Amino acid sequence: MLNKGFSEEELFTFFAQKKREDLDHKYILSSMCTLPHPVAVQAHCIFMETNLGDPGLFPGTASLEKLLVRRLGTLFHLPDAGGYATGGGTESNIQALRLFRVLRNELEYPNVIVPESAHFSFKKACDILDLEMRPVPLDPDFRMDADRAAEQVDDNTIALVGIAGTTEYGMVDPIEKLSKIAVAHDLFLHVDAAFGGMVIPFLDRPFPFDFALPGVNTIAVDPHKMGMSTIPAGCLLTREPDMLHALNIDTPYLTVKQEFTLSGTRPGAPVAGALAILDYLGVEGFKATIAGCMKNTARLIAGLETFGIKRAATPNVNVATFVCDKVPDKWRVSWTRQGHLRIVLMPHVHRDRIEAFIQEMGELDA
Ligand SMILES: *Cc1c(COP(=O)(O)O)cnc(C)c1O
Repeated sequence: MLNKGFSEEELFTFFAQKKREDLDHKYILSSMCTLPHPVAVQAHCIFMETNLGDPGLFPGTASLEKLLVRRLGTLFHLPDAGGYATGGGTESNIQALRLFRVLRNELEYPNVIVPESAHFSFKKACDILDLEMRPVPLDPDFRMDADRAAEQVDDNTIALVGIAGTTEYGMVDPIEKLSKIAVAHDLFLHVDAAFGGMVIPFLDRPFPFDFALPGVNTIAVDPHKMGMSTIPAGCLLTREPDMLHALNIDTPYLTVKQEFTLSGTRPGAPVAGALAILDYLGVEGFKATIAGCMKNTARLIAGLETFGIKRAATPNVNVATFVCDKVPDKWRVSWTRQGHLRIVLMPHVHRDRIEAFIQEMGELDA
């Protein structure tokens, strides 16, 4: 701690300088987060001091969280779904597996079956919950092989996990097949739609991945990714409205007597941000945004392929991957575990940026 504090001017000069050290979104092609929509920012600022960890003090904000769950449940074909706002996909995934583990606490050595493409948050979840993680190989299109998943099921299996919009290749796992396997073996099924949940419902031909499939018990979706909300905004949804109550613990000195959340203090601001943007854009607005991102994805793939840079996959959502090991320095891209160039076509990645990138990639080999 400083003995005597800075003046506001000194402080904000310093902060402005630090902000300039951050990268310009103009060159960020690797992130699943994006610039928050101005409407989300405005709503966020109004609710800055609210704490959903003590909802009796903030009933207005708490009702916004209920509305957010209702909007997302409706989008996923179950308006009465249960759920709550999390800090993101990681917390949603941990809580889903925690819920299944508690509901099957008679098992001594429980395991969960996940695709090899699963986000690393499942590793954290299995570590914390002492679950055996059984990875299932992918098919040639980088999707979970459902037959191989079924082969992994045994008496200690509590759940299957499918990914709707994989982090690395933008693929949607065969959730319909997983749903059938889950029902046949009486297993829980968690769908990780952290990224794809705000994309798939708005595609011209949506993939089946949500509560319309009878085997799906829980869904993770992140408004702070394609929902264009402020960070941190995630959501965990459950088929039964009060399923999460199995996680309740006593909270003696709060306005509520019990809670099932992982965090205690929870920000209301990003919940307001997430709801604001849903209600501002509506289905039509999201369809337009998603159509633009998908068009940009197709353009990037076509553009690089004219230079002989081949796609690694034909993605289901706006993530493009390539057999390529070099890009001009100033662009921030990422690389998959298999070494493919990976670009996420977020709303801030406008067409002119894509054209500039394609042109520079062409000049690289010239
Ligand atoms: C981003 C992502 C996560 C993790 O979400 P965080 O918000 O970073 O915790 C989990 N699963 C998938 C499929 C993701 O794309």
